[in-house]
Amino acid sequence: MSKKNYLSTIGQSSPVSASQAIAKGLAPDGGLFVPEFIDNISFDLERLKDLSYPDLAKAILGDFLDFTEEELDEAVDGAYRSGKFDTQNLVAVTDAGDHSILELHHGPTAAFKDMALTILPYLVTRASKKSGEANEIVILTATSGDTGKAALEGFKDVPGTRIIVFYPKDGVSDVQERQMLSTGGDNTDVIGIFGNFDDTQTGVKHIFSDKAFNEALDEKGYTLSSANSINIGRLLPQIVYYYYTYFDLLRNGKIKEGERVNFCVPTGNFGDILAGYYAKKTGLPVGKLICASNQNKVLTDFFESGDYDKNRAFLKSVSPSMDILISSNLERLLYDKLRDPDQVASLMKGLKTEGAYRVDPSLFPEFFAGYASEEDTLSTIKRTFEEEGLLIDPHTAVAEKVYRDYRDATGDDTYTVVLSTASPYKFSGAVYEALFGEAPGEDPFELQEKLSERTGTKIPFSLRDLRSKPVLHHKTAEPDAMEETVRVILS
Ligand SMILES: *Cc1c(COP(=O)(O)O)cnc(C)c1O
Repeated sequence: MSKKNYLSTIGQSSPVSASQAIAKGLAPDGGLFVPEFIDNISFDLERLKDLSYPDLAKAILGDFLDFTEEELDEAVDGAYRSGKFDTQNLVAVTDAGDHSILELHHGPTAAFKDMALTILPYLVTRASKKSGEANEIVILTATSGDTGKAALEGFKDVPGTRIIVFYPKDGVSDVQERQMLSTGGDNTDVIGIFGNFDDTQTGVKHIFSDKAFNEALDEKGYTLSSANSINIGRLLPQIVYYYYTYFDLLRNGKIKEGERVNFCVPTGNFGDILAGYYAKKTGLPVGKLICASNQNKVLTDFFESGDYDKNRAFLKSVSPSMDILISSNLERLLYDKLRDPDQVASLMKGLKTEGAYRVDPSLFPEFFAGYASEEDTLSTIKRTFEEEGLLIDPHTAVAEKVYRDYRDATGDDTYTVVLSTASPYKFSGAVYEALFGEAPGEDPFELQEKLSERTGTKIPFSLRDLRSKPVLHHKTAEPDAMEETVRVILS
């Protein structure tokens, strides 16, 4: 096979190996790393279709990484064969009437981020060794709620690493906050930011691109890396579950060999759905990728008109992990479509200076986009429980709603999988209210109990003991003091 180079989306950094791309997280020019060779990958479905989830992960990741077989085994087995997930196959494909729901929340923190963040620490530590990095790796992460806890769990007490997580103080659910603040480990820090997720993410990106700051850290023996989906090592493991789901549908007679499947994805930073696009590019028979947004519908407007415009009010929703106006991984899609780093650079500059850019909307024929209002989201939770007997969280409900809208609007009856990204018990307040119409206003843990009683469903193991865990982190900061906070933590 040809050399597996990773390039920056904006073309001002030299090509690097997979290990270098993962160890660094972000390209030195501020762009995102993309696999140059992706057009040359074409997986043999026949060879992959009966593999277990971990073996499938090895087969797929093997083609994207520069790891030896032993290195790959260590990473995949450590993450996926060590009892961290509460189902044997890591995910569950559940029948939901005329479509299926892919449950991606059976990992240690009950959100889909676990699919990648259980394996990322193995990838990052191995990658930095392979690329000759002697410094301690400091993982800096901005979170809209779920990445933070999943990354903290993944990197907690991993030798040679530290992890610092920033989250919007009033922009995550009570359960999400308590999950993060109760994390132990000698190498973890969690900081509440007085701002929204975009402020938080922008702050982290600023720290990465501040040359002088990074040089000063290097002298002290630290190198920054990222656990956000701007790190290609976060994205690649997500390709696996698209393949796995397709094969599961085949095994269960839901589809025939070669038949196309649509995927409807609750979207925020565009990482999850981009992995679906990479799956399609590498040979999986995917029809449409349906991009579902909540009321922060920047992406819906973008796919309809070609205008990306973040100049609008940031709305807090019942699906907080999707409250995002700057959808980072869209940059990778733009690169793939345009194949012109200068043009991507100029679009990203437009985003930075004007908060907007424009491209030809006909560039994206394999995408459809829609959104769900707050009211739609809550009524979909209720309808799905009453009609299908399935308890879904608000993020999944957004995608369920958009799936229905898509079918109504297009008449496309291609078999569809709706991705379910979090346990309903991470958002008990909204779910309880949607089902029983009473204002919650109660202790989130009592609400979980009540929800469990009234719906006859179980609280996931990872959330059950949360209430008795003490709060261990107490730091807060203004968005413009984030760099200073990192300096203090590392001094
Ligand atoms: C992160 C997250 C999303 C959005 O995924 P992206 O890859 O950022 O598009 C959706 N739902 C939940 C529950 C999440 O945690």
